[in-house]
Amino acid sequence: MSLKPSELAYVPFVSVENMMKLVHHIGLRRVLREIADTIEEDFKRWEQFDKTPRVASHSDVGVIELMPTSDGELYGFKYVNGHPANMALGLQTVTAFGLLAEVKSGYPVLLSEMTILTALRTAAMSALAAKHLAPANPRVMGVIGNGAQSEFQCHAFAEICGITEVRLSDVDAAATQKATRNLAGSGLTVTPCASPEQAMEGAQIITTCTADKQLATILTDNMVGPGVHINAVGGDCPGKTELHRDILLRADIFVEYPPQTRVEGEIQQLDADHPVTELWQVMTGQSKGRRDASQITLFDSVGFAIEDFSALRYIHAKAQETGFLQNLDMIADPDDPRDLFGMLMRSNAAG
Ligand code: NAD
Repeated sequence: MSLKPSELAYVPFVSVENMMKLVHHIGLRRVLREIADTIEEDFKRWEQFDKTPRVASHSDVGVIELMPTSDGELYGFKYVNGHPANMALGLQTVTAFGLLAEVKSGYPVLLSEMTILTALRTAAMSALAAKHLAPANPRVMGVIGNGAQSEFQCHAFAEICGITEVRLSDVDAAATQKATRNLAGSGLTVTPCASPEQAMEGAQIITTCTADKQLATILTDNMVGPGVHINAVGGDCPGKTELHRDILLRADIFVEYPPQTRVEGEIQQLDADHPVTELWQVMTGQSKGRRDASQITLFDSVGFAIEDFSALRYIHAKAQETGFLQNLDMIADPDDPRDLFGMLMRSNAAG
């Protein structure tokens, strides 16, 4: 990417409204597939990226995080929060926005809402991991935790892995009713379930996406049979996990970026040298994904900066293509770059 100075004066901004228009224009399933393809493309060039665990600021009620990365041409970061108690206050548990910048000039080239985009990229990432790890021809997925992320997960697994039935369970029956309503007409068979055990009946894939700031036990060891793939989305913070430790000891564990996952993921419950496989190496063929039908595979998802970078890169291209953006007057642009002060003074005189 190389933009002329005049093109850098305004920063394209994708609002929530434009993000929704863009998704409907392209089609939800296609967006999920194309974000997954973009993530896979970027994971296959993993070594080109500047990588660092996200920078987290914790409080008693949640966390606020910054997630930066760069491939040398573009720099991106996401601001994201995680506040499990927000939902009871009528607020989102997770909200986000993000920015892409040109490395050459340091100028931003995109500012975007990322609350919807995070749900899309998290679902795309989960399904992409499952494409490499789940048993062959999975049809049924159990989904425990039916909040904001859940329907996105269901659509992504239908599109990318061929899931045809989802079995939903949540401690709050209203969440399951909401997800069941939202998935009507999706082409999926949707089965509301009264317990996690019921949701897991006949499932080849189990997704956990609950929100609680504690070491929770959404799945106990006896609930997990041989051969399943677990997509653990909700444990993504120190002191916030979903799986009993014994499951981890029986599973082959796949992660995004070990230095971050060791602190934030399910594996915070294990010794620091417990073996894990990095997903990018599975995608490049350097490591094996699923080896046999009885193996339990676990994607210990926490969300890594490169996934957001890929999602922003995708949205940048699509927003330019479709025009679903606004130009923000965000960068001061005096005619003489050294005359910033003069520009400020002249603006008052003109007014
Ligand atoms: P949400 O608050 O909208 O939904 C969470 C749901 O979990 C609620 O419906 C709640 O009733 C349910 N729940 C809580 N405890 C439960 C339990 N013990 N058993 C069954 N259900 C339970 O949250 P969300 O936006 O859907 O996010 C879900 C989780 O995913 C959060 O923990 C969030 O931090 C995490 N997340 C992870 C990633 C990632 O990349 N891994 C990305 C986004 C969100």
